[in-house]
Amino acid sequence: MPRLDRALGAVIGSAVGDALGAPFEFGPEGAFSARFPTAGHGGEMCGGGGWEPGEATDDTQMAVLVGESLVECGGLELPDVFRRFQRWAAAEPKDIGLQTEAVLGSGDPWDLAAALHFQTSQRAAGNGALMRAATSGVYFAPLGRDGTMDAGRRLAALTHGDRAAWEGTAILHELLRVALAGDDPLAAVPESLTAVHPDHRDRYATVLAPAWHPDLATEFNGAVWPCLGSAVWALRTTSSYEDAVRAAVDLGGDTDTVAAVTGALAGAVHGVGAVPERWTDVLHVPLPGFGGRVLRTADLAALTRLLGS
Ligand SMILES: [Mg+2]
Repeated sequence: MPRLDRALGAVIGSAVGDALGAPFEFGPEGAFSARFPTAGHGGEMCGGGGWEPGEATDDTQMAVLVGESLVECGGLELPDVFRRFQRWAAAEPKDIGLQTEAVLGSGDPWDLAAALHFQTSQRAAGNGALMRAATSGVYFAPLGRDGTMDAGRRLAALTHGDRAAWEGTAILHELLRVALAGDDPLAAVPESLTAVHPDHRDRYATVLAPAWHPDLATEFNGAVWPCLGSAVWALRTTSSYEDAVRAAVDLGGDTDTVAAVTGALAGAVHGVGAVPERWTDVLHVPLPGFGGRVLRTADLAALTRLLGS
């Protein structure tokens, strides 16, 4: 499979997972399958909870902002990414993470805002940096393991002061890099853990172990560890893009983000051809703060090509 198909799968697959999961956010386990018992029958992009059918949420909106900054700046310009996030947050998107909102609205400089918030809150290990990693995962993959993991950490640190969020985002970047190269990201987990900060290695080793199951999570899946663990579990226990994101949404809880992370991985592994057209046809990504733009699947594909593959 051409590398481009995997890159498109990561970016579009993540957005589709986000839109598919959004109506089920904070719902119970199994709600998706209860409503859509048979795979492949359509109608799953159902909307609800304030979301239109196929409408992607903050996860994808922020991933697009990251991707467009990387393309337009020709590289990682963290102050530019932060400014785009601020502009977006000020336009009152339908959803925004509590912590992301606090950091972006703090008035503190880009390189201090997340750290200052963490000092006072001590709670910053949400999945809000993990959820927006598909575009940067594609862009930085050519740098190799250490380069892509470092970029992932720095992007996460813009809004999340807790190193746990940096390390989780770094691992996801590395697993995407492996998948984009056509290799098995599941087989790369042990190797990727060796590049994780030692203070955080054990906790990620636990949730990424083959025997781990989302029922074993010790936090809500809005936290970075079970979110990443659940996405990897969904990839490991299925053999198609569709089944992977279905399993992710069926976990309940923070369904849009767990499915966005799952969709990035499963899209990179199975390729964009595995992402059902009945889902990409209705996918759309409003971008508050940026002149009323609404990106469709073709726009995400164009962005992905510019990110390089
Ligand atoms: Mg969301």
